[in-house]
Amino acid sequence: MKTVIHWFRRDLRLTDNTALAAAARAGEVVIPVFILSDWKKEHAWTGPNRQHFLCESLRELADSLPEKDGRLIIRQGRADEVLRGLLEETGADAIYFNRDPDPYGREMERRIEKMAEALGRAVFSSKDHALHERDELLTVSGGPYRVFTPYGRAWRKLPKKCERRTAAKLHTPETIGSLDLPTVKTWGLDAAEVADIVAPGEKAARKRMGRFLDGPVFDYQKRRDLPATEGTSRLSQDLRWGLISIRELYEGCLAAMKGTIGARREGVETYLNELAWREFYMQVLRHFPKVLETEFDEKYRGLDWRNSERDLRAWREGRTGFPIVDAGMRQLRETGFIHNRLRMIVAMFLTKDLRIYWMSGESHFLRHLTDGEIASNNGGWQWSAGTGADAAPYFRIQNPWTQGKRFDPAGGFIRKYVPELKDVPAQKLHCPPENGRTLTAQYVPPMVDHAEARKATLKMFQTRA
Ligand code: FAD
Repeated sequence: MKTVIHWFRRDLRLTDNTALAAAARAGEVVIPVFILSDWKKEHAWTGPNRQHFLCESLRELADSLPEKDGRLIIRQGRADEVLRGLLEETGADAIYFNRDPDPYGREMERRIEKMAEALGRAVFSSKDHALHERDELLTVSGGPYRVFTPYGRAWRKLPKKCERRTAAKLHTPETIGSLDLPTVKTWGLDAAEVADIVAPGEKAARKRMGRFLDGPVFDYQKRRDLPATEGTSRLSQDLRWGLISIRELYEGCLAAMKGTIGARREGVETYLNELAWREFYMQVLRHFPKVLETEFDEKYRGLDWRNSERDLRAWREGRTGFPIVDAGMRQLRETGFIHNRLRMIVAMFLTKDLRIYWMSGESHFLRHLTDGEIASNNGGWQWSAGTGADAAPYFRIQNPWTQGKRFDPAGGFIRKYVPELKDVPAQKLHCPPENGRTLTAQYVPPMVDHAEARKATLKMFQTRA
């Protein structure tokens, strides 16, 4: 009886899971394991929302595995050491896993390959998280893309293998020991701090995908920038944790697009373009892992950013006096999610109006976002700061007042998250109150003058122009 291990990572689903299906084809006995990291309390890049989403998604996976005569084995520690122990304990011949797009995950893969080789066991890794990964998409000169538009065009054209395979039976033995399913307490976090996040698990993710492809995708282009509407797919955490297959989502889009014309077709096309952005940032991180430590654009390294813990706190807490910014930051705090348009607005506000270093925002987002993902998050922050691959040029500084007017004209989103402003008419929400006054007695005055702040930021960047 051939025994193999499937190492679950960012692929917490049974449907169309490439490595799990390969493991089930190769072995009569499959041991599915999830390995908990062993940090405690404070982690600069994660927090209760994402960990809770993970725990509940694992719970559902553990409940579903018996349908395939499988059991989820939970272990904790450094992945290569845990897997070594499991190989020795079970006599398994091989380890199967889906490749991780980030440099930390890749480093661990290398260690595991070395460890398994020393033990004379095999390792099989699969592409699963992206339609195109690693070096599949390079420029004509063989280098990585630094600009999205040609990348996006090439991404759309390149044929995509969308073979879908789902594991049949796993036959995990009852005798293999497992830790209990984790809760946020496993990492010393407080369950009371978990925000009102979206429903976790493969089933809820599949429902979201089905609902989006059944209708909203056709209006995506028209509504995706309006945070007061539910115009986007809300699938980012599901893609982040692999609760849905990117192949299934992509094919679902192609099927939806069939026979459509005009605006409906544009809706699906625009959505596919966003999926390409996701893979663009993954390949930026693969080829330029330094972006996690410094600016992608060398020219803007070491700029004279401001250091103000007080201002940073006001931004984090949604007390800047800019209604659209505060609504976005409070959405993040209350729901563990923030609409894409708002991510851009609040990130530009932090970096261009407060002139605070983008990494402070990057880590705050990662601690609170249920969909926190280092490639997209770093890409989004460096884009907003004007320092990244294909970034917004530094001199294009958005005005938060006009952004609010443009994307939340009736103020519905602002009023939902900033109750102090619930009775303020829309036109007043989108311009600074006169003579340093406040919009209401309960609301704070704007913490900066946008025009002045803009000038200071331009000056900072112009030292390098
Ligand atoms: P939709 O609009 O429905 O888009 C569909 C999918 O495409 C998303 O689920 C996501 O996987 C992908 N996508 C969309 N826009 C982008 C983009 N600009 N870059 C990369 N992928 C994209 N996305 C994350 O998944 N995790 C993050 O940590 C993250 N941090 C960000 C930080 C900043 C400062 C900015 C500006 C953007 C960030 N994004 C991040 C990208 C984007 O904001 C979210 O993916 C999107 O808001 C998620 O909502 P949705 O699933 O409804 O998106």
